[in-house]
Amino acid sequence: MSASLPSFPDHPSSFLSSADELSDQLSPGRKSLDVLFLGTGASSGVPVIGCSCPVCISTDKKNRRTRSSVLVRCAGKNLLIDTSPDLRYQSLKNGVVTIDGVIFTHPHADHVLGLDELRIFNYIQKREIPVYADSYTLSRVQMMFPYAFSEANRGGLSRPKLIPHEITGPADILGMSVISFPVYHGPVMNHAVRINDLVYLTDCKGIPDESWEALYGVETLIVGAVKYEPHESHFGIHEALALIERLNPKRAFITHLSHSLEHEELSRMLPPSVFVAYDGLRITTGGS
Ligand SMILES: [Zn+2]
Ligand SMILES: [Zn+2]
Ligand SMILES: [Zn+2]
Repeated sequence: MSASLPSFPDHPSSFLSSADELSDQLSPGRKSLDVLFLGTGASSGVPVIGCSCPVCISTDKKNRRTRSSVLVRCAGKNLLIDTSPDLRYQSLKNGVVTIDGVIFTHPHADHVLGLDELRIFNYIQKREIPVYADSYTLSRVQMMFPYAFSEANRGGLSRPKLIPHEITGPADILGMSVISFPVYHGPVMNHAVRINDLVYLTDCKGIPDESWEALYGVETLIVGAVKYEPHESHFGIHEALALIERLNPKRAFITHLSHSLEHEELSRMLPPSVFVAYDGLRITTGGS
């Protein structure tokens, strides 16, 4: 039986502006991370078009899931992980008006296709936005959105203005300590992201030997699972729970959920300190 979700600090305006930058500067030390779950759905989202299963017709808002993405805020900077096809709606719904950088996990459509929405953030911020990924993902994203990276079109008014950065090892991104490491995702590789003691690990079927080191000591683990049973390129719930048990984080959140998983029903079967994420959930992790 799962414990009820603890009341994490809620900062309704913390993703809106740089207003908390000063307080961060005044209290140096280990910086905490605020995490906003923009989307928690599998690739088709929930409800699925044309489906009338109990989860798709549920009136519980926690069963309405846009495509997966999180916004991580540290010391006044907003780092977006993936550009979901629902990025515009997610930003409007959560009052997100600043994106200081983007990191991509892998080039699947449900993690990339909202890239064009970044142009409005360029317009608001009046600056280019750095985007980070491993070399393969970066090259695929540039192939999918050539106009967004074209030098010839750099002054174009209605295109995203992005600066690509290849991640080749541990990196400092917007003041956050970031490690991007490969995980098996069926026939392709995905990249999990560790930021300080937070790990965001969706779209995973297994962990290569060399990636375990980046997982140990995780405080807050966000892990993807699409249904109860194993899937050919994703964890099922029981595989995700086995990973959580091995890593023993302070708390874990399940995300990237399909319409096979009903929020309350799944919540009831999870151990204490493991929670079902939902769109709009905000948590804080780390800090001295
Ligand atoms: Zn996915
Ligand atoms: Zn359904
Ligand atoms: Zn994927």
